[in-house]
Amino acid sequence: MICISIIFSNMDAAIADLKKANNIADIIELRVDYIFGLDIKKLIEAAEKPVIVTNRRKADNGKFEGAEEERLSILKKAIDLGADYVDIEIDSNYNEIINDKKNSKIIISYHNFDETPENINEIFDKLNSTNADIIKIVTTANKLADNLKIIELIKKSEKPIIGLCMGPLGEISRILSTIYGSFLTFASLDKGKESAPGQIPAETLRNIYRIDEIKPGFKLYGVIGKPISKSKGYIVHNSLFKKEKLNNIYLKFEVNDLEKFMKNFSSLLAGFSVTMPHKENILKFIGVIDPVAKKIGAVNTVVNNNGKLTGYNTDIIGAIKAIEVKTEIKDKNVTILGAGGAARAIAVGVLEKQGKLTILNRTVEKAEKLSKEFNCNFGSLQDFEKIKTDILINTTSIGMHPEINGTPINTKFVKNIIVLDAIYSQEKTKLLQEAEKNNCTIISGIEMYINQAAGQFKIWTGKEADINFMRNIIK
Ligand code: NAP
Repeated sequence: MICISIIFSNMDAAIADLKKANNIADIIELRVDYIFGLDIKKLIEAAEKPVIVTNRRKADNGKFEGAEEERLSILKKAIDLGADYVDIEIDSNYNEIINDKKNSKIIISYHNFDETPENINEIFDKLNSTNADIIKIVTTANKLADNLKIIELIKKSEKPIIGLCMGPLGEISRILSTIYGSFLTFASLDKGKESAPGQIPAETLRNIYRIDEIKPGFKLYGVIGKPISKSKGYIVHNSLFKKEKLNNIYLKFEVNDLEKFMKNFSSLLAGFSVTMPHKENILKFIGVIDPVAKKIGAVNTVVNNNGKLTGYNTDIIGAIKAIEVKTEIKDKNVTILGAGGAARAIAVGVLEKQGKLTILNRTVEKAEKLSKEFNCNFGSLQDFEKIKTDILINTTSIGMHPEINGTPINTKFVKNIIVLDAIYSQEKTKLLQEAEKNNCTIISGIEMYINQAAGQFKIWTGKEADINFMRNIIK
């Protein structure tokens, strides 16, 4: 179940949000500590879904600053008015509420805004020993493994339990908790309306992550990288899983420590995408590396077959397929701008297709190093105007935020050729806009992205991804 918290500071705004929440939530939390001029009766009457009444103290990141007696009397009033659920903290005089619960169900809660403490099992036992109807245990994830501790509690609890981790590293618990049996997960009504750090909009939980549809026994996929918050792969892959009616889910994992992640999570994942900065370092954790990925020296896709991890690189097919829709590569003069991971992958693909390759880079030594490995020409970005190019491929980050108005080379020399920009944060970078004006055939990095994601989908599921569907999802 998805619970939305109503956190507005006045009754009119609270009622307006309640009406919106009625359409998307399964259950609504009235954070009465937030609302000035409180009229609980009016709020309960306006809710078309079951309500939880919560009156959080300032010390627990709430807003209530009055006497404890007054705080509890508001909760008792909510019980008298027929609130479906009332939340009371474990370090309060909770029995006063439990013993007076009438037809309401009582949620006994523990929150920790700093960490997931070592003694979490003791805290669970204490919550469990009360006569409350539901246990709520919400901690802060300082590392990804903290999510697993909470999931273990959800799995072992015999009483209904709400278990979650807060903070950016706790995001995965907000998606997985209900699938593992948490009574509910909290979501925001919209972006900017979070009642706790790390909350995901309800719409995203329901329609992208499909938390109501995913069943136990699901296959877990994801992307690992840092930073990962802006990654959009979760939209593409979850939409493909939905389209194919697969009991699979794809999450974002912000990974600081690759070794710890591989130790704690790799056995749980059926497969994962790898993005910067882990594409090269991941190789040492993988048993089998596909020969193409080995040649590139980077893996962007991992599949777990009964504990045996195999690494692939689909960036290569992503770029080559996107170019081949427009032209053959054989015997063409291909210039790659940049000498990083994407340049390496595309260089291997271009040479396999017998293109004549030149690598130009800001740091010329890096271009030279790559050129020795691949036996091709190299130079600085300024050399572009001196060489013949039929196909130009940008793999530098110029054109991406914050340099969206920049181009890696002077575009007056980019004329009547084919231009692919690997950047996929927007459809047409400045380079592509200028190239189009100069009569070039342009290829968006989105096409490369779609093709590499389709390659991952095929590796994980054995199925061909619907490219047009993916294009529409991204657009
Ligand atoms: P990377 O390994 O960090 O390489 C970055 C490259 O950009 C280096 O050659 C670097 O030159 C150059 N660069 C950075 N800032 C620059 C500046 N201010 N002026 C000139 N050159 C600059 O990154 P990567 O993994 O290769 O990724 C590169 C781009 O490809 C990113 O935009 C990424 O999103 C995109 N990409 C797209 C796809 C897709 O599916 N569409 C897949 C993979 C990557 P120096 O060597 O001089 O630092």
